[in-house]
Amino acid sequence: MREREYKIWNPEMECMDREQLVKLQGQRLKETVKRVYDNVPMYRKRMDDKGIKPEDIRGVEDLKYLPFTDKPDLRDQFPYGLFAVPKHDIVRIQGSSGTTGMPIVTGYTQHDVDVWTEMAARSVTMAGGGPDDIVQVCYGYGLFTGGLGLHQGATQVGAMVIPMSSGNTQRQINMLKAMGSTMLCCTPSYALLIGETVREMGIDPKKELKLRAGVFGAEPWSDKIRARIEELLNIDALDIYGLTEMAGPGVSCECLYKCGMHVNEDHVIPEIIDPDTLEPLPYGEKGELVFSTITKEGTPLLRYRTHDLCRLNPEKCQCGRTNVRMDRIMGRTDDMLIIRGVNVFPSQIETVLMGIPGVTPHFLLVVDRVGPTDTMEIQVEVTDEIFGDTVADLQSFSKLIYERIKSALGLSANIKLVPPKSIPRFEGKARRVQDNRKL
Ligand code: ADP
Ligand code: ZN
Repeated sequence: MREREYKIWNPEMECMDREQLVKLQGQRLKETVKRVYDNVPMYRKRMDDKGIKPEDIRGVEDLKYLPFTDKPDLRDQFPYGLFAVPKHDIVRIQGSSGTTGMPIVTGYTQHDVDVWTEMAARSVTMAGGGPDDIVQVCYGYGLFTGGLGLHQGATQVGAMVIPMSSGNTQRQINMLKAMGSTMLCCTPSYALLIGETVREMGIDPKKELKLRAGVFGAEPWSDKIRARIEELLNIDALDIYGLTEMAGPGVSCECLYKCGMHVNEDHVIPEIIDPDTLEPLPYGEKGELVFSTITKEGTPLLRYRTHDLCRLNPEKCQCGRTNVRMDRIMGRTDDMLIIRGVNVFPSQIETVLMGIPGVTPHFLLVVDRVGPTDTMEIQVEVTDEIFGDTVADLQSFSKLIYERIKSALGLSANIKLVPPKSIPRFEGKARRVQDNRKL
């Protein structure tokens, strides 16, 4: 394996003194506010309703006076209502994967594509990527931003890019081997599947593959899953975050110190708010992540509510970058299930399960309603060793899981142990919840 390289793509922007950064953000925010006020009727109306004129916004400190934007706004204004430039200036459309309902689209000018590419290039560089790398992109290509985003970023840093898109896992692995790919980009679920398949094919990644890092994102994952992917593929596995509404992947990414994702604050301003009161929360507190674009021309968005739960840390990182770091996303408020009145995030269940040896990272949560009562079943995939145990052993193993879940969530769940490989695997974003109450 090559030595880790702690390079920085754009030191001027990524390591800027924070005071100077806030000034730059303020300037760019003012320009954005003026642009949307003049060009986007929805924002003009919202600002008029609040009695705010663009000149009232003096800097980042006035962000809190601006109106929020939420996903339904993008749906209501579909397809062109939020565009702030004439269609003739738009060179690209991308759409969200539609995890939570109807897809939405955003438009990019050439400058927007360039900014997105820059953010993705910074991310690839954080993972140590450069001209000597062979980057295999196994995110889906298309309206979904994963594939094209990493493709552009890896091209920008001068790497050799293999645009595989997702799917056909054996072929992915054959390419990893034949081409000597050094970096992998896909969802963590898919990285896990690729890693498991590599091992099943009897390939020793240390000897037969040249992989050394991966940037994985587009869905929540945990440090336990990170450890598993790193072990299966013998790589550094880094978390990358993004959303179509802000550009795509690369809004933030981890450096090789793996201590939070560096937000590209010269292009977006992150805030954490209390999702109930909508009041901004100080750094370090957990809440909903909100972003304002400050360089976007096509579809600039003010205070966009991501519904992702997170925390921000403004301390300078060991790598030298000064921009704010985001914790791993703890879940989406949209993912939250209310079961017998208790709030449950699938990530909580994952954390409990991953702490039990013999349990694989694959599970399915099935929620239903019998009469007036919600029921929850957790199908837990176990390893071969556990599955080969006696019935009595399996029963006591289920009981252990039942108790751990009960103490972590305060809820009783029916635990069903299922054999290895029986829970579906995912080539894109995983779906671990089946809520039959909504059917
Ligand atoms: P959607 O999934 O809403 O259809 P996108 O494809 O644009 O839309 O995905 C953006 C969403 O994906 C984010 O709001 C977030 O919920 C999730 N996401 C992206 N990257 C990460 C990550 N590294 N960790 C957790 N969640 C992520
Ligand atoms: Zn860092």
